[in-house]
Amino acid sequence: MIPFAGNPLNRASEKRTDSNWIESKRRDPSSLVLPMWRLEPFLLGPEKSEPPIELGLVRPGIADSLADADAPCIFLGLDDDTAVFALDVSASGDPANVGPLAGLGYFRDARMAGSMVSMKDAAIIAQAKAMIDWHRRHGFCPGCGAPTKVMDAGYRRLCAKCNAEHFPRVDPVVIMLATDGEACLVGRGKQFPPGMFSALAGFVEPGETIEEAVRRELMEEASVKVGEVTYYATQPWPFPSSLMIGCFAKAESRDAKVDENELAEVRWIERRVARELIKGKELDGLRVPPPIAIAHHLIKTWALGEK
Ligand SMILES: [Zn+2]
Repeated sequence: MIPFAGNPLNRASEKRTDSNWIESKRRDPSSLVLPMWRLEPFLLGPEKSEPPIELGLVRPGIADSLADADAPCIFLGLDDDTAVFALDVSASGDPANVGPLAGLGYFRDARMAGSMVSMKDAAIIAQAKAMIDWHRRHGFCPGCGAPTKVMDAGYRRLCAKCNAEHFPRVDPVVIMLATDGEACLVGRGKQFPPGMFSALAGFVEPGETIEEAVRRELMEEASVKVGEVTYYATQPWPFPSSLMIGCFAKAESRDAKVDENELAEVRWIERRVARELIKGKELDGLRVPPPIAIAHHLIKTWALGEK
């Protein structure tokens, strides 16, 4: 299982437009609310607890005083019959220290939190983070510039002036491991920590298929020509709202030349080296991303000969 995937909630999308039902669930004492402060999810317990940490779901009303009246409150879905919401409490000062949540837990960066909670809770964080992030960036209509308002339990924004509707978007990104026999290609982004190498990646462009994006990115970033492209898996990546589309690509040769505008370095690594790196080891000055990233799973699947 890949982190941020496997959301356990029934999104019950047919309920989003039923404002009476949504409002009653917002007040129902059996419902749950995930406070999100400046895009960080709330986690329960003392900060030094051992993972898995419990997601900070609280009863309705508890966190309401921390949010502005028009703050997005997203209906995430149903856990059996329990409605689960995410509430943006960014208007407040640090609510882990003062107010109704003080002493119950703490807020943590979504990426870090995703590796501290259970896989199911990580997927709920991905949904909540991407949705609230979208609201924070879409307060104004891109068509006419007027303010927009939250509709449909958070799944639509409506421009009050020109009536344009705006929906949460997901940006597709291809992330691919080029392979040639017993070697695979990894690259180091300019902003990566020293020694960190990962699978190459890039946004899918308008008018492009996934396979075309994989071929274009490998050619642009590493001058590597590839033949067959095969799908591996996808991962919701809420930074801010991407869908990582993991692929394997068969390289036609090991000729590679880094595009220094895009990457610091590319390297072919042998399968036996990759097998050590996925254990979290550093070898030949090289490391690969931890299991929170789909790149880790791409490299691992190939290194273990499952692809
Ligand atoms: Zn407008």
